[in-house]
Amino acid sequence: MNTPWGFWRLLDENIQPEEWSEAILLAMGCLSGLPAAEPPVNAEEVMPAILGESQFGPDHWYLSRPKRIYYQYIRPILPSSLRVPLRTLLLSRQRNGSLLRWPIEDRYVRFQFEIVKRLLESKGLDAIPYVQFWPAGKCFALVLTHDVEGPLGQSFVPQVAALEEAYGFRSSFNFVPEGYKVDPHLLQDLKERGFEVGVHGLKHDGRLFSSKAIFDKQAGKINQYLKQWGAVGFRSPFTHRNPDWMQALEIEYDLSFFDTDPFEPMPGGTMSIWPFMMGHFVELPYTLPQDHTLMITVGETTPRLWLEKVDFIEQYCGMALVNTHPDYLRQDRHIAIYESFLSQMKQRRGYWHDLPCNIARWWRQRGSAIPSREDRKWCIPGLPGACIGQVYMTDGPATLSNRPSVELRL
Ligand SMILES: [Zn+2]
Repeated sequence: MNTPWGFWRLLDENIQPEEWSEAILLAMGCLSGLPAAEPPVNAEEVMPAILGESQFGPDHWYLSRPKRIYYQYIRPILPSSLRVPLRTLLLSRQRNGSLLRWPIEDRYVRFQFEIVKRLLESKGLDAIPYVQFWPAGKCFALVLTHDVEGPLGQSFVPQVAALEEAYGFRSSFNFVPEGYKVDPHLLQDLKERGFEVGVHGLKHDGRLFSSKAIFDKQAGKINQYLKQWGAVGFRSPFTHRNPDWMQALEIEYDLSFFDTDPFEPMPGGTMSIWPFMMGHFVELPYTLPQDHTLMITVGETTPRLWLEKVDFIEQYCGMALVNTHPDYLRQDRHIAIYESFLSQMKQRRGYWHDLPCNIARWWRQRGSAIPSREDRKWCIPGLPGACIGQVYMTDGPATLSNRPSVELRL
C-alpha cells in the first residue's frame, strides 16, 4: 500500500513495475547512512524498512530494562521538578546516538522525489501529471493535536480550544480514559464546536506495551472507549508503539509515530512527512517537535524551529502535524510560544487545515481512487476536491507544481 506508485499516483499508464523498481534502486543514494540502504538492497523492501521502522532492528519496539524501570516505577514517584532535568540528561545522550537527523530529516523525502526524477529520465519526459497530495490545490497540510496528560491539563483544555478558535483553527484532544476522571461535558462541548476527541492510551502508566497479552487486554478496553466517545483516532502514551500489535485497535488513524524524534523513549522515526497506511489504519506521523521538546528540552523561546520545519514541509507538500499538551501550555511562557505559532500560521496561505480524522480519510481515499479519462481530461470520481498537478524535471531534484492542469498531453 505504501509503494512509490501508490504514493505518487502518477497519471501515466505506461510505466511498468520494472521501471519503478529500477528508479527506486537508482534513487537509493539519497538514503546513504541508513540501515535501509545497506546492501543487498531490494526495491520491494525499502518502504517497509523505512515506514515500519524495521531498519532499526527487531528489538526496536522493546524498551531497554533501565527505561522500563524508569517509566514504570521511578517516573510516577518523581516530583516534576526532577523529571525534567533527569529526562534532559538521559535524552542528550540518546540524541547523540540517533541515526536520524533532527529536527529536519530529509533523506526519505528526497528519495521519493528522486525516484520520480529517475523515472522521468528513463522515459525521456520533462513532466508528468499526478494526483495532488492535498485537495483544492493546497500545497501542504496543517494538523493540530493535543494529548491531555492529567486533570490539570484537562482543566486547561477550554483555554487552548478558545485560543485556537480565535485564530480560526480546530484541533483534536486525546484524553486518557482511565488516567483521570474524563469530563463527558467537555468532550461533548469540544465536538459541538468542531474539535475532535481521541483516545490517549488507557492509563498512561508506561505499561501498555509491556507484553502482547497486556496490550491485547487493554486494547479491548480502548476499543470500548473509542466507541463510547465516538472517536476514531489514537495516540499511545510516551509514543510507545508496535505497528503489529496496534492492528487490534479499532481506529481510522493513529498518531503515535513521527518522522524523526530522538527525544522519545523509543527513538527512531518513519522519516515520512506524509501520511501512510499502517495495516488497516492511516498513520499520521507528527512532524513538528513536541511542545516539551521545543520549550523545555531544547529551551526555545519562540516557535522558530516549528516554522522552519513548516518551510521544509511546504517545499515538499507534506503534512505539518504538531502535538502539544494543555498540561505544559498552562505556563504563560509556553502558551505564548504556541500562540505566536498560531498567529504566524494564520498569516500563511495555500495550506489545508483540518481535523486529523478528515486528513486521514482524504489520504485513504486518494490512495484508492481510480482516475479516469474523459475527453482527454483526467477526472477522479470519488475524491472530492482532487486536483491534478505536475511533477517537473529541474536541474536539481524533481519538483511539484500544484497549478491545476487537467489537460493531458497525448
Ligand atoms: Zn501523554
